[in-house]
Amino acid sequence: MMIKKSEQCVQRVHTSATFNHTHQCSRKNGYGVDGLYCKQHAEKHLSFKQKETYTWYTYDRWSDIESVEIIRFNDLSVWIAGQGRVNRVSDMITYFPSKEEAYRFAEKK
Ligand SMILES: [Zn+2]
Repeated sequence: MMIKKSEQCVQRVHTSATFNHTHQCSRKNGYGVDGLYCKQHAEKHLSFKQKETYTWYTYDRWSDIESVEIIRFNDLSVWIAGQGRVNRVSDMITYFPSKEEAYRFAEKK
């Protein structure tokens, strides 16, 4: 099965044990930092490089405010540990850097 280069995991993997040749991992990306890795390599990277997480809070219409561990964020997105990138604000769930902000938002709803 061929997948587009842009959808391919960026991890280099060793071709053989004897020679120091590497090739790009052939699995589909969408996980880990910036969604650049396949599920398997994203987990490997998380365990080695992304041990530090931030606790953020989510609000959605159906459940109470809940905490979530994220590995990074920018103005539009958060990266959830082990899951990948999601929008900070969507129809379903909104993500907040503090509990207070989440409660303030929930009260306004
Ligand atoms: Zn991979």
